[in-house]
Amino acid sequence: MAITEQERLLRAKASSLRYRRTNKGRLNRLKNMAAYRLRDVAAYNAKAAAHIHKLKDDVFRAYGGWVCACCKETEKSFLTFGHMLNNGAAERRNLPGRGRNGNIALWRRLRREGYPPGYRIECYNCNCGSFRNGGICPHERIA
Ligand SMILES: [Zn+2]
Ligand SMILES: [Zn+2]
Repeated sequence: MAITEQERLLRAKASSLRYRRTNKGRLNRLKNMAAYRLRDVAAYNAKAAAHIHKLKDDVFRAYGGWVCACCKETEKSFLTFGHMLNNGAAERRNLPGRGRNGNIALWRRLRREGYPPGYRIECYNCNCGSFRNGGICPHERIA
């Protein structure tokens, strides 16, 4: 006797649950990942770095591009990700990973959330300036 579509789905679900319970899939995946990583650590690291580079580029472009929102500096090595509410450190503490990693976790979240407002690209000068000046860069006060 032929089984109904519903029965077929139920059976497929049961078998996938069985599979997951034995944890074979997970173990195999972990083993494959470790093997892949060991085969070529440099390539693995390069790939991870490229991935982060892409993430950073996406985020910077989404928040106005590689230019300081205040003084229009465009030298990439001077630019950083600024929190307009001046609570970067507090925000990073709520995310997995600290410091540099904290920023990466934040960028992932922002990309996932469609780049909500509250952030901007700024150079280190303007970043420090606004931090010391209560959230407003001294450049803006002069203007
Ligand atoms: Zn600047
Ligand atoms: Zn400035």
